[in-house]
Amino acid sequence: MPLLKVENLVVNYGSINALKGISFEVNKGEIVTLIGSNGAGKSTTMNTIAGLKSPSGGKIYFEDNDITKLDSSKRVKAGIILSPEGRQVFPEFSVYDNLMMGGFIQKKKDNLVEIEKVFELFPVLKERKKQMAGTLSGGEQQMLAVARALMGKPKLLMLDEPSMGLAPLIVKEIFGLIQRIREIGTTVLLVEQNARVALKISDRAYVIETGKIVLSGKAQELLESEDVQKAYLGM
Ligand code: ATP
Repeated sequence: MPLLKVENLVVNYGSINALKGISFEVNKGEIVTLIGSNGAGKSTTMNTIAGLKSPSGGKIYFEDNDITKLDSSKRVKAGIILSPEGRQVFPEFSVYDNLMMGGFIQKKKDNLVEIEKVFELFPVLKERKKQMAGTLSGGEQQMLAVARALMGKPKLLMLDEPSMGLAPLIVKEIFGLIQRIREIGTTVLLVEQNARVALKISDRAYVIETGKIVLSGKAQELLESEDVQKAYLGM
């Protein structure tokens, strides 16, 4: 059984039909990427899985349970955690407090254990734990956004455009950390415009164009596909 199964999902914003019936799966232990250009419907897919947007049609199953109508807070408790596009850290709060907010569904005692694990993965956040989040560099803020999501102990970590606005070296570092997060047992669903770096660390991927999945397969196969190379890899 897949960890996440999305079946024929349809999402509208008023008269705009953003998702036109998309289906895909994420298995436990995988890194799966949704690639697609601006406005293809990637963020809408993530937000709908997180319960922030209601679909007009289709089903979402998590660990075989139908969660299509479940509140977003219950999805967090079930282990579905989104690190949103644009990071959205709380700029006026310290790194430490931002992290603690990521663990709001747990007891403080558990958060104190969890934060130490997070600091092992992200030593730079430990060094800067008292610093206001708004004064971190872009890359550090992205790390904080991912680390904050980890504080909720996700079974499925959803990352919306973690490479956005970051220099290539920093992107490489963040994608290295995403691989590490998977190695220590968290399944990852990634959304990226930066298809090349995303495909390099993924097991499988789906290509979304204007609200539809047009291609899917093993990440390595998509990296080698001429269509993908032309449309998404600038070759
Ligand atoms: P990007 O990388 O630019 O965020 P995306 O693939 O994530 O692109 P979405 O943000 O999911 O795409 O947008 C899909 C479609 O839905 C687009 O046509 C977009 O204009 C539309 N859309 C997204 N959010 C809203 C909204 N709040 N109100 C109206 N239309 C929206």
